[in-house]
Amino acid sequence: MSPQLLSTPATGVVVTGGASGIGRACALALAEVGRPVAVWDIDDEGTAATVRECADRGVASEGLRVDVREREQITEAVAPTVAALGSVGGLVHAAGMVRPAIDDVVDADTWDFVLDVNLRAHALVVSALLPALRAAQPGSAVVGIASIEGLIGHGGIPSYVASKHGLIGLTRSLAHRLGPEGIRANAVCPGYIQTPMLAPAISSAEARAALERTVPLGRLGEADDIARVVRFLLSDEAAYVHGAAIVVDGGVTAVGGQQMLGG
Ligand code: NAD
Repeated sequence: MSPQLLSTPATGVVVTGGASGIGRACALALAEVGRPVAVWDIDDEGTAATVRECADRGVASEGLRVDVREREQITEAVAPTVAALGSVGGLVHAAGMVRPAIDDVVDADTWDFVLDVNLRAHALVVSALLPALRAAQPGSAVVGIASIEGLIGHGGIPSYVASKHGLIGLTRSLAHRLGPEGIRANAVCPGYIQTPMLAPAISSAEARAALERTVPLGRLGEADDIARVVRFLLSDEAAYVHGAAIVVDGGVTAVGGQQMLGG
């Protein structure tokens, strides 16, 4: 085998949720290795900031206001994205939403909202981007940001847990369906990552310390911890990684996940 590193495709990547947190870190990490990036998000200010920072790294970058719950908005975003980036050979679905269960285990509105953003959108975006992903071959790949809650349960956020379990199932099905075309599909399962989404859970020093105690590595994760793995999965270095759900959690699930909370 050649000692040389395999090359990273130069094709563009769509990052949903790229205005903040993990999506933003993914966009910047991809731009660092020369990949053009399009941010699809509903947060205009955050999108503009990410696009600016990608451009500072010398790549083509584009931001579009896309609510990933809306099929039409997704479809309409494809042509301008391909035009701006030159090609689309990758996708990171990082747009995500968590809503607690209040009284009932599942109320219909919360269920629809969370499942639409976290799960249904990944299927819709992959479908809309398929012609572009095919045209950009070889090396096209998609990554869905799941969660350790795609692997374990949590009574406080059942719709979120269901959406993330579903995202892993969708990833495995995409692997079966798109593998013969050479388009790879994987999921990443982050643990506790310091982003605006996690902020309410670590708003006091005590809450933060309790969460840290559940992590064998002894610290909460950074968005970059996830972005580096996503960048790898979208590169040719990961040419034989397909249909996988890669856990990036500092060891939380290795030692029992939520059972350690408070312990
Ligand atoms: P974040 O809140 O910082 O970012 C989420 C982004 O998604 C925001 O920019 C938001 O505007 C965008 N978004 C939300 N709804 C959207 C919609 N309808 N259309 C388009 N964009 C939309 O959160 P984050 O922590 O970076 O989360 C990114 C992903 O990582 C999510 O799927 C989340 O479930 C997952 N995740 C996060 C953690 C964590 O601890 N932070 C852990 C596991 C998984």
